[in-house]
Amino acid sequence: MASGFVRIAVAAALITMAGAGCAHHAVRSWNAALLPAVATMTSTGRAAAGLPDRSEITAGQLVIHADFPLAGQHRLVRELDGLRIDVSQELGLPVSDEPVQLYLFENTDRYDAFVARTYPGFPARRAFFVETDTTLSVFAAWQDRIAEDLRHETTHGYVHAVVPAVPLWLDEGIAEYFETPRNDDGLHRGHVAHLSGRLLEGTWRPDMERLESLTAAGEMSQDHYAEAWCWVHWLLRTTPERRKLVQDYLADVRRDPNTPPLSIRLRHQLQPTIDAAEAMKAHLDGLATSPPS
Ligand SMILES: [Zn+2]
Repeated sequence: MASGFVRIAVAAALITMAGAGCAHHAVRSWNAALLPAVATMTSTGRAAAGLPDRSEITAGQLVIHADFPLAGQHRLVRELDGLRIDVSQELGLPVSDEPVQLYLFENTDRYDAFVARTYPGFPARRAFFVETDTTLSVFAAWQDRIAEDLRHETTHGYVHAVVPAVPLWLDEGIAEYFETPRNDDGLHRGHVAHLSGRLLEGTWRPDMERLESLTAAGEMSQDHYAEAWCWVHWLLRTTPERRKLVQDYLADVRRDPNTPPLSIRLRHQLQPTIDAAEAMKAHLDGLATSPPS
């Protein structure tokens, strides 16, 4: 059956990624038949499917279903709701009203059982984002790193609601940028340390075109996630010109999914005066040597 074939193909891609060390995953262009029509399920249907159903609250674009009482004023709920405006303003994107469904399981046992039953073959992930033609959904277990996980996955939801064709590498770079605590302004010290180590070893150099050649999340290694984050940080946090460049690019991808890659724009608009890869490396060096605030 077609759906079975897609399921196997996606599972294989995910398994390839199991060693990458990234706890997040966006399943793109998923065959909607594989995802239970969770967004339209009744409470009884959600419970029967093993989905969280004890409480439901709405916060802006988010519809949060949880295994436990979750107050609308919970700090994390407020933070995720506020993230919608941060994402919109930083990326120059409009705010959407398309619902993003968040399913919060009370523990990893409940979550793992749901994933094993609903998505057989999935490797262990603390959280993941699923986009179908009609729904945007996030699934996560309540654990120590839930805030970081939900900031990451919810960012995917906010971005995909307005730019469904966002390129894979940029999608992940943006999500890594916004998964950091708000006061960190997108600074991901784990990625800075990782890439700095790679530079010292001489085993890595920035190459946006290489990132653009990736077509499946299963191909993305920790190096790729870290580099994708670093390009996004360099674009958004260095000059107004670079920020505008990525904002204009996203606006164009929103209008036309076949917009030429960002690297071409970078070369034409910035490269006459700077070498983008060298500038990005210098930015990384600066971050690595600056004291934590
Ligand atoms: Zn992600």
